[in-house]
Amino acid sequence: LIIIQVVLNCLLLFAKENKTTMVSFKASQLLALLENTDTGLIVTDFGGKVLYANEYFMDLMAVADSKDIEGTDFEKWISKDHLADFRTFTAAAIELGVRKNSEFYFVAADKKTMALEICSLRSTSEAGTCLQYIARDISRQKLIENRLREAKEKAEESNKLKTAFLANLSHEVRTPMNAIMGFSELLLSDNIPQAHKEKYINYINNSGAVLLNLIDDIIDIAKMQSGQLAVKKISCDLSSILYDLHSSYSQLIKTQKGDNVKLMSEGAVPRGRIKLMTDPLRFRQIFTNLLNNAIKYTDTGSISFGCNYDAAIEGKRLQFYVSDTGIGLSQENKDAIFDRFYKIEDDKLKFYRGAGLGLTISKNLVSLLGGNIWVESEVGKGSRFYFQFPIEDAFISISERPETKSEIDYSMLENKKILVAEDEEINFIYLDELLKRYKAEVIHARNGQEALDIVIADSSIDLVLMDIKMPVMDGYEATRLIKDQRPSLPIIAQTAYALAGEKDKIIQAGCDDYLSKPIKPISLFKLLSQFLVAAN
Ligand code: ADP
Repeated sequence: LIIIQVVLNCLLLFAKENKTTMVSFKASQLLALLENTDTGLIVTDFGGKVLYANEYFMDLMAVADSKDIEGTDFEKWISKDHLADFRTFTAAAIELGVRKNSEFYFVAADKKTMALEICSLRSTSEAGTCLQYIARDISRQKLIENRLREAKEKAEESNKLKTAFLANLSHEVRTPMNAIMGFSELLLSDNIPQAHKEKYINYINNSGAVLLNLIDDIIDIAKMQSGQLAVKKISCDLSSILYDLHSSYSQLIKTQKGDNVKLMSEGAVPRGRIKLMTDPLRFRQIFTNLLNNAIKYTDTGSISFGCNYDAAIEGKRLQFYVSDTGIGLSQENKDAIFDRFYKIEDDKLKFYRGAGLGLTISKNLVSLLGGNIWVESEVGKGSRFYFQFPIEDAFISISERPETKSEIDYSMLENKKILVAEDEEINFIYLDELLKRYKAEVIHARNGQEALDIVIADSSIDLVLMDIKMPVMDGYEATRLIKDQRPSLPIIAQTAYALAGEKDKIIQAGCDDYLSKPIKPISLFKLLSQFLVAAN
């Protein structure tokens, strides 16, 4: 700092002595020194007019000619937000003689903003009174600092959220467990009226579903973190997916909210027919996450969902929405809700259950499927979630009628011979009960080898429900060998499907489709209806 001050003083002195003639040899050397340093040097009078700026500073300010900077107010180059601080800094330099290392943002002629660290020296030599500034470009350092700060804050926030998540998780697990264990115990008591029994069983069922959902979400989050969550796009009929969702959710909303919340159906399903290249399971999961939230956070009014079909017709992106008239979201929470474990906890509002995973999973799934997701919302008025996919993933045919059929024709099961390969007795009893209700004939194989032997011996088997993990011969092997014998016999795998890649392995083994355990009756019958046809 002192050296630069001496150089500047000498220069000013030489310049003063040689006002009209060329600057002397010594002065020109000093000037060369000042011009070639990688530090900005500026001299102003006490009024702030620039008397001199070296080439480095001119470069920083994106000016080519010294005339464009000399004679200007130095303040002109300071960012407006920093002007007041800069004036205080300069006043202190005039009063105290020196001010060191303050950071200010400057705005160059090309509007680029940069951070400079400034020192200021008051000079009252023979050359006259002036202020000398030394400026160091710290933009890069500032950028790194800001990134580090953001990363640190994010890590701290993430750690805080993780801790809150673990505390919350215990609550989320214990609440349904409490119901399951409590009502199971009650069921064992004597003389419970039938109506009460049904109510208890319903509680147990619902709590089981809540637990299962939580386990699925945790597995999905773990897969996402390890980069193992994969999607497989196939051509799907969009109308039938939306119809299915509509029929299950109108029922669910009615049960949970009575007449207080209505599911608006208008426009939910496209008028024409759209085939969408997507992963049907994951596509449905995005909708169910958003719809479950809409139900959770809406006590009165309406919920609607569907496809913005017109945008697709116009060749834009294929857009979907889920909208509600519920509690809504503040501006601040709108982005944060897509973060892992983020849950809005407001003691003044009622307590809402949830682990804060659904939207993170939805966001990841939408992005894996090549789209994006966002929300528009206002506190107290409701929220509208949107997600969209590239139009290239959709095939639209307007002339065809949409597929409206979502009813299952249970007569398809009458007199059909279904082989259930299952080593767990309890799982077999469940499937046996379900299938026999609709007059199917059920045959039991306890392992893959038995299943193979039965298929070879009995050519009238119509379909196989194949467990994968079985003793003696597993489901993969049995499927391969059965398909060698009877390639057209439909085989549906039934699996716990938790491990990455299992789905692919099942399909590669030759299975026509698969069902995830626990198997819901509706999913079983829907899938069976794709492979079995009613006799008449
Ligand atoms: P959670 O299991 O807690 O619902 P999500 O990831 O699905 O987890 O949602 C994160 C948070 O976003 C929720 O805790 C809730 O505060 C807010 N949120 C999500 N959907 C809605 C909605 N439709 N209306 C209002 N708030 C919502």
